Amino acid sequence: MLLSGVGPANQLRENNIEVVANRKNIGANLQDHPSVMIEYERKTRSVFQENLRFDRLFLNMVRAQLFKSGPATHPLGFGTGFVKSRPELSLPDIQLFFRLFLVQSREWFPLIREPGPTGIGLLACHLRPEARGTVSLASSNPNDAPRIINNFLASDMDRQAIRQAFKIKRSIAAQPAFAEHIGAEMMPGKDVRSDDQIDAFIRETAITVFHPIGTCRMGADEDSVVDPQLNVRGCENLRVVDASIMPDLVGGNINAPVIMIAEKGADYILGK
Ligand SMILES: Cc1cc2nc3c(=O)[nH]c(=O)nc-3n(C[C@H](O)[C@H](O)[C@H](O)COP(=O)(O)OP(=O)(O)OC[C@H]3O[C@@H](n4cnc5c(N)ncnc54)[C@H](O)[C@@H]3O)c2cc1C
Repeated sequence: MLLSGVGPANQLRENNIEVVANRKNIGANLQDHPSVMIEYERKTRSVFQENLRFDRLFLNMVRAQLFKSGPATHPLGFGTGFVKSRPELSLPDIQLFFRLFLVQSREWFPLIREPGPTGIGLLACHLRPEARGTVSLASSNPNDAPRIINNFLASDMDRQAIRQAFKIKRSIAAQPAFAEHIGAEMMPGKDVRSDDQIDAFIRETAITVFHPIGTCRMGADEDSVVDPQLNVRGCENLRVVDASIMPDLVGGNINAPVIMIAEKGADYILGK
């Protein structure tokens, strides 16, 4: 929309784009779920790693395609859970992801390619951050990437929540029930103990879990980008139907809400 002249007039003029509609909040209100990972050695055998051997992988992929069965049709070792960073919160603000493998896992074959490392990853993301960022144009060239500023960890509240998430993950990994499965902490490692050290690790390694929303906020107020029927205010015959219309982040994965938005948007367009 920015490239087509719908957005904050100043920004459009700075980029030599003719202003079709001055909508100051397009690109504002960017929200996303920041996350931090802890990795542990794995004490038990990894069937996933074994199945990444080229020949097994190939046969399992063929089996999955032809017979819809076998390991390649199973979900990866993955679990999720919701917890509160502070007991007084009414809703969980942390989502935990348990991963029975490391992202460095890769295909391997004896004497040709070494297997990747095995391990267990505990990822946690902050579901209700205060941070609000922006998406803006770097230029009027559609091939140039936009400027994306998330402002993650800008507030004390956000820093405290994700630090607490980090500590919760450590306390879960230290439970006796995991003792036979989880070995030493590989990343960041046992030397990272104080709040300052934890914060530094989070600043260095935090990533998004790819849930950006909010830059075309829906609302009943005139400053919102789209109205409750998803029409872009100030334009005719133009709707936004995607994750960007969410005014606030949902407290979990966002793909299902995006599908609901799409279903509703399709109904509006069809006049249902
Ligand atoms: C790596 C990754 C993992 C994720 N994992 C999960 C998950 O496990 N669970 C979950 O709930 N959510 C997950 N998400 C989030 C989820 O995929 C997104 O929130 C959702 O797809 C957003 O839908 P959307 O329609 O807003 O945008 P998109 O799905 O990005 O769709 C935008 C579409 O517009 C097209 N497009 C872009 N520019 C143009 C143009 N100029 N002209 C025409 N077409 C254009 C794109 O090709 C694309 O098809 C993940 C996202 C990523 C990136």
